[in-house]
Amino acid sequence: MTITALMPTFNRSPIAFERGEGVWLWTNNNEKYLDFGSGIATNSLGHGNKHLVGAIAEQAAKVMHVSNLYSVPQASRLAERLVGASFADSVFFCNSGAEANEGLIKMVRRFQSDQGRPERYRMICFNGAFHGRSLATIAATGNPAYLKGFGPVVEGFDHVEPNDLALVEAAITPETAGILIEPVQGEGGIRVIPADFLQGLRYLCDKHGLVLAMDEVQTGAGRTGKMFAHQWTGVTPDILSVAKGIGGGFPLGAILATESLAKPMVPGTHGTTYGGNPLACTAGNAVLDVILSDGFFDAVVAQSVHLRDGLEQVVRDFPQLYSDVRGKGLLLGVKCIVSNALVRNALLDQRLLTVNAGDNVVRFVPPLIVSAEECSEAVERFRKASKQLAQADCERKSVS
Ligand SMILES: *Cc1c(COP(=O)(O)O)cnc(C)c1O
Repeated sequence: MTITALMPTFNRSPIAFERGEGVWLWTNNNEKYLDFGSGIATNSLGHGNKHLVGAIAEQAAKVMHVSNLYSVPQASRLAERLVGASFADSVFFCNSGAEANEGLIKMVRRFQSDQGRPERYRMICFNGAFHGRSLATIAATGNPAYLKGFGPVVEGFDHVEPNDLALVEAAITPETAGILIEPVQGEGGIRVIPADFLQGLRYLCDKHGLVLAMDEVQTGAGRTGKMFAHQWTGVTPDILSVAKGIGGGFPLGAILATESLAKPMVPGTHGTTYGGNPLACTAGNAVLDVILSDGFFDAVVAQSVHLRDGLEQVVRDFPQLYSDVRGKGLLLGVKCIVSNALVRNALLDQRLLTVNAGDNVVRFVPPLIVSAEECSEAVERFRKASKQLAQADCERKSVS
């Protein structure tokens, strides 16, 4: 047999991490890495955070799962806190980003149907988006590479280029139910969607009776220096998905909705066995304890400015390798001229973990608790890797 027991759906580096502390990870050979990948923008409190670990351990010993047939006080509390920290009136918990978006899509359709407009079921989505790997969310993503070989594409998703309102308005039909957008496209290449475009989408939604839905799976839970990225823009969605950082590394997703979007979701309309279990919601509450504490987001913004300055200096010093730095808060991307895979590997040689994104971008997404010294250290390693890449590039050119 040539197949690995672990299904080969990922190109994995042959590195295995055994333990972590803060922004640092140690392999099973005791090699130390600086983690600016955060398990793909997920470990918001870093590794081994005492408050989070303690809360999980304590709850696990009491009760992990009871099902949604019973009251779950941890879930009620987390929902109330998320409502308090956002535009939302009501929250549905699930276990991942794809699942949150899947439920979000159902809710948008159900809302229109309940309004007496069942013909409105289509969502306008954007080129470069990423919404997950379920059948509906790959259709919402629209990337042909993710759709190939998986049968008929789930109906109801229309794609347009972001940042052109006329294109969006032209794509609205009598069957359009809503618009779905990431305020910063993550997997697509850390593309920040300008506030005025989001404002335009809000206007179009209000004008045409559409739902404005935001995918904040990656940008939510403080990643950009506010609880949610849309809070920078003055634009409020009607419904939003969040996952990744909200559980601090423990699987947790959520759909946040206004009352009108949530009202049609009566018993029997949607469900989950694991979603909103005591353990996951305890993790979520512990994450909120930290990120909603006084001054936390100010620190995220301060570290972001510091990290961005450092990255920009390196980018300026190696114009043959990189073109620019983009992103918001601690969701930063370096747009590469050479292949981002090459850059990522050079960073790995410097024991700095990053994550590649689309559009030939290397993503720097440290835990939100990162310090200024650790940001400087990452920039130093980025500079060293860049020197080596530039030298190799130079030697290759002089040979050919
Ligand atoms: C990661 C991601 C998803 C999918 O989340 P999973 O937990 O992997 O299902 C959806 N949308 C965005 C914006 C993401 O970054």
